[in-house]
Amino acid sequence: MSAQESNTAATEQKQEVAELATQVEDIVLDAEGKPLSKKALKKLEKEREKEQKRIEREAREAAERAAREASEVDCAKENYGKAPINMSQVQSGTKWTEIKDLSAELAGQTVHVQARVQGSRPTGSKMCFLVLREGSATAQGLLVVDNETISKQMVKFANSESLVSLVAKVVVPSEPIKSCTVGDVELHVSRLFVISQVAVTLPFSIDSASWSTLDYERDPTLNRVLLHTRLNNRVVDLRTTANNAIFKLQAAVSQLFREYLTNEKFTEIHTPKIISAASEGGANVFRVDYFKRNAFLAQSPQLFKQMCIAADFGKVYEIAPVFRAENSQTHRHLTEYVGLDLECAFREHYHEVMNMIGDMFIYIFKNLEKRWAFELATVRKQYPSEPILVGDKPLKLEFKDAVALLRKHGEEMEDFGDFTTKLEKTLGRLVREEYGTDFYMVDKFPLAVRPFYTMPDPENPMYSNSYDFFLRGEEIMSGAQRIHDAGMLRERIAACGVPVDDLIEYIKAFEYGCPPHAGGGVGLERVVMFYLGLDDIRYSSLFPRDPTRLEP
Ligand code: ATP
Ligand code: MG
Repeated sequence: MSAQESNTAATEQKQEVAELATQVEDIVLDAEGKPLSKKALKKLEKEREKEQKRIEREAREAAERAAREASEVDCAKENYGKAPINMSQVQSGTKWTEIKDLSAELAGQTVHVQARVQGSRPTGSKMCFLVLREGSATAQGLLVVDNETISKQMVKFANSESLVSLVAKVVVPSEPIKSCTVGDVELHVSRLFVISQVAVTLPFSIDSASWSTLDYERDPTLNRVLLHTRLNNRVVDLRTTANNAIFKLQAAVSQLFREYLTNEKFTEIHTPKIISAASEGGANVFRVDYFKRNAFLAQSPQLFKQMCIAADFGKVYEIAPVFRAENSQTHRHLTEYVGLDLECAFREHYHEVMNMIGDMFIYIFKNLEKRWAFELATVRKQYPSEPILVGDKPLKLEFKDAVALLRKHGEEMEDFGDFTTKLEKTLGRLVREEYGTDFYMVDKFPLAVRPFYTMPDPENPMYSNSYDFFLRGEEIMSGAQRIHDAGMLRERIAACGVPVDDLIEYIKAFEYGCPPHAGGGVGLERVVMFYLGLDDIRYSSLFPRDPTRLEP
């Protein structure tokens, strides 16, 4: 009780005494007109005095308690509290330590840390354990009441998910801490200030959003946080260590894509996303109002990256959003995803480009394991998966051989059809069994299942110089040699029934002359999803967009 609260209580109690006194008067002047006997009156007065003494005693005790508590607060008052809103008032030059960098090397040192309080566990009234989290890293904090620098009030102070700034001593615990990513040291907190408080009830705790399938197996009573609930509350959901790591890995895939292609002398380009006609044809295009006429959101940078090849850029790539009006709810389709696209002029054969892209993926996969091992381990703790099986060179199969492999195992498939998702997955399993790899390229798809700009196979016009790449049995990239001859392109546009008027500017690029070239388009979220063995693409999309989800 604060001093102010105890004053109020004392005033209330005085009022109570006065009321009682009036009641006694009332009894003396009883309405029935029967005055009390002297004896009864004396007894009543005694009772009244006793009652008043009791009330006064309780008020005194409350005031003393409040004063005592106020003095207890004083002992730690300087060491905890709500920090003023940071309006950039000071530049103290404090050296801050990140949770992930805590180690036994720092034992004995005092560090300044900013972290979320993921949870607190008081043990008795004198001690409190904290789980402190920063990104994907967690460490154990400890507050022990010493009645000098740390008070009971301080121990009760920080609530879940508040962001705190603290000063602590790095201490090696008697036993390694298994529940945190930092296991070899803990933080003995001496000062703790809240920088940002949680002002509302959290939709779910970060602990419950972090449980793994193994936790559910161990304890079937645990409440699962469903994907839908997670996505509705994505900001809180993204705070889990696994989600933090998933998006570090997503960034890593684009970084490695960029790194590899930059080394190969590619130029990064940025093509328009508002365009005048559907880039790939077909129905899955979003139409938008554009100053009294229609425009479309780009279904891929396809036409523009090829136009850059006609402009003699030689090798180009782009990392940008791709929009697909695909009105189906599947585990691997979004209406907006991040496209990793590349296009490359070649001298003799499209396999020069195809093989280079294969090597690029191996580079990405190997470097993820090497340079992002902590993030991978963090994700796998919540979403267990085996690392992908992959050699130093990608496996290359021809489409007709993949069909034969499927048929050999009892699957039915047309010679010149496309793989369904189910057939893709079966193929993935068979290739793994037969060739021991989760990553492979299938070359020479039937011409009929590819877009108009695909170069036909010179040896068999039923096939084409096109390829898909697969990871854990599902498509991550489609690519091909493109038609660079304007006459041939016009023929294919006509044969595919695509409106030629929409493609005039594109065709012109080839009429001006263009080198032979090939390339591909990769879905970033798909690479992350299959690499990590996640079962829904929404896990690897920051704020996913699908036919039913436009928010948050
Ligand atoms: P799918 O057969 O899986 O629907 P697609 O063949 O229609 O894919 P492409 O036009 O070949 O897709 O796109 C190139 C790559 O872009 C795909 O290999 C995939 O990685 C990614 N991708 C395509 N559509 C989507 C989508 N709707 N959501 C997320 N990624 C996609
Ligand atoms: Mg495809």
